[in-house]
Amino acid sequence: MSLRIPGPTPCPPEILQVLAKQMINHRGTEFNDMIRQITERLKEFFQTKADVFLLTASGTGGMEAAIVNTLSPGDKVLAVSCGAFGERFATIAEGFGTEVKRLQFEWGDAASPEAVEQSLKADPSIKAVLVTHNETSTGVTNDLADISSVARRFEKLLLVDAISSLGCIDLPVDRWGCDVVVTASQKGWMAPPGLAMVSFGERAWQAHSQAKMPRFYWDFAKAKDSLDKGQTPWTPALPICYSLAASLELMAQEGLSNIVERHAGVGQKAREGVKSLGLSLFADETHASNTVTAVRAPEGIDVKKLLQVLREEHDLVLAGGQATLAGKIFRIGHLGHVTESDIEEVIEALKVALPKLERP
Ligand code: PMP
Repeated sequence: MSLRIPGPTPCPPEILQVLAKQMINHRGTEFNDMIRQITERLKEFFQTKADVFLLTASGTGGMEAAIVNTLSPGDKVLAVSCGAFGERFATIAEGFGTEVKRLQFEWGDAASPEAVEQSLKADPSIKAVLVTHNETSTGVTNDLADISSVARRFEKLLLVDAISSLGCIDLPVDRWGCDVVVTASQKGWMAPPGLAMVSFGERAWQAHSQAKMPRFYWDFAKAKDSLDKGQTPWTPALPICYSLAASLELMAQEGLSNIVERHAGVGQKAREGVKSLGLSLFADETHASNTVTAVRAPEGIDVKKLLQVLREEHDLVLAGGQATLAGKIFRIGHLGHVTESDIEEVIEALKVALPKLERP
């Protein structure tokens, strides 16, 4: 079965094998060596000198950790949102008592850095900006370089959901001045779900010293104390750590710039392939993502049925649309362990399946 959803992504055999390894003492030297190596490698892929923490959580846990470690109830935040995951970030911040100002864009469009600038100009009391780098629900990659430069100019804390972009699409965390950046093991990292990885920079630590949100499991002061000893504060998802160590080894062999280039090629292949079938892209093509392609369902095609036919007759799993996009789009995930020939197979399968589903 080919899994072409935007996460979890397929794991290469080298990564699956290590999942069968015996458990180790998470307070012992073997884990100490492993977490140090993982953290050093992650810093290379995040392009940062900041702290990078491994949390036993899915990506959403990392988003929550970003908020509770930097903000206090009543703080005003600007939530930049152009899809379901931007909306999720805003909802988490609201749930913890911040005053959320939503800056919303049409789903399928990218967030406008100029509009972010206008919002920050209009309300100097905003403390932090929340933004999704790659909006997985619509297949849009936002102009994070420009949005971060606006946040820096206005001296706002910048919290970034890079869950479906980091390790696939270039994101130089330090150069762009992103204060907190979140990703997750089951996306471009080719590992199973279970770990969130979060970078936490200088300004984030300053905010942490003032932040009054309730936190215990996610407290980065505890994570930092433990990491200094080569540990995590709580029992980590050891098998996922083994697999992340193995995937980072593979990724280091390929090299970040080659990985980014491969994803750019795969993304282009997906968009060209979709258009060659007469289908149209959901995302504004100038901001189309290199990790996920959202496709408008053709008139008269039942998306559920299409996904079923692809699964049953072509051993291929694609994703449907989320929230208001259910039934309106389908999505091809192309991040992590994926090549252009994998995408050719997807396009071939669609070419056979779609005509069968068209209503006479
Ligand atoms: N943000 C983005 C951009 C995502 O793609 C996802 C996962 N699809 C999430 C957040 C949520 O991550 P998780 O399901 O790992 O909690």
